[in-house]
Amino acid sequence: MKGFAMLKIGETGWIEKERPKCGPLDAIVKPLALSPCTSDVHTVWAGALGERENMILGHEGCGVVAEVGELVKDFKVGDRVMVAAITPDWGSVEAQGGYPMHSGGMLSGWKFSNFKDGVFGEYFHVNEADANLAHMPASITPQEACMLSDMVPTGFHGVELAEVEFGDTVLVVGIGPVGLMSVAGANLRGASRIICVGTRKICQDVARGYGATDFISYKDGPIDEQVLKMTGGKGVDKAIIAGGEVDTFEPVIKCLKAGGKIGNVNYLGEGAYVNIPRVEWGVGMGHKQINGGLMPGGRRRLEKLASLIECGKLDVKPLLTHVFHGFEHVGDALMLMKDKPSDLIKPVVIL
Ligand code: NDP
Ligand code: ZN
Repeated sequence: MKGFAMLKIGETGWIEKERPKCGPLDAIVKPLALSPCTSDVHTVWAGALGERENMILGHEGCGVVAEVGELVKDFKVGDRVMVAAITPDWGSVEAQGGYPMHSGGMLSGWKFSNFKDGVFGEYFHVNEADANLAHMPASITPQEACMLSDMVPTGFHGVELAEVEFGDTVLVVGIGPVGLMSVAGANLRGASRIICVGTRKICQDVARGYGATDFISYKDGPIDEQVLKMTGGKGVDKAIIAGGEVDTFEPVIKCLKAGGKIGNVNYLGEGAYVNIPRVEWGVGMGHKQINGGLMPGGRRRLEKLASLIECGKLDVKPLLTHVFHGFEHVGDALMLMKDKPSDLIKPVVIL
């Protein structure tokens, strides 16, 4: 079968591979829609995970079941299914401890385009199908289902990690597709003021629709100074980091109230250390928490997040700015994600 792959750090292209084999608990899925992620860009062009050779890329997609193992109970050939980017081993001790995304070791629940071939193939393999697949509701299109693989669950995980509560003033750093879903999630959780950091106009327009109230640009001076000025020197209750780099934590800690919480879902592709400003961190006693996490995967979460779309509480369509038709455009979609033109939020490929 054909797949669009990372050939080595800095290089992508089409390759031929064997169709994946299906274990007794697993499924083989034929994609219906696919979407590239900024994480694919970090993996290929920043070499952020280290060297990977001839690995099929992609972890955002949905499809039709082509094969199931003999122990799979709830899915059969022909079912339309959604799948999360993170597909844990649910029997692992880490999953039993509440951290399925780290099943088998730190970040090891992230298998697609990390430890095994991703979803940008004619077929892809899903481990533990009953736990990692979800039936695609009839009212959800394949391109919307793609946003449930990673953008919705990751953006919302930032909100969970920051523990946003009713009436919180929330700072969202980065309003690409992930940060936009953090804005939507913070709004659903009852945030009052939502201050966003990001310059692309299209992202600002969409953020406003998801509940953003204020905007600042990281290009107009330090974020903390702008936030403190805007909040009369008080700062924010919670912050979600979905963009920027290792240095971004510094201004965020500076404008976070004592007792505030940071939820980071940004993939730190470069740099050796994250610096924490000593004084503004309350000389170690400010109760300013930094929670960084890979989103949890799994069927239950997929079904719950899909129900928000089904009930009209969440609309992911504004994210889908660039729609391609045909598997052969997967590489074009990935290049768009790398180049980030000003009118882009998220590309999707319908097969
Ligand atoms: P985008 O590149 O589309 O968006 C990044 C945002 O950050 C933009 O709004 C951008 O502003 C802003 N930004 C860029 N530089 C800075 C800076 N120096 N300071 C503050 N803001 C800045 O990314 P995505 O939304 O696709 O992804 C966001 C991050 O989440 C990525 O690192 C991605 O790899 C990661 N990710 C993590 C996952 C997880 O499970 N934890 C899963 C999926 C993604 P501008 O408008 O100017 O472009
Ligand atoms: Zn992703």
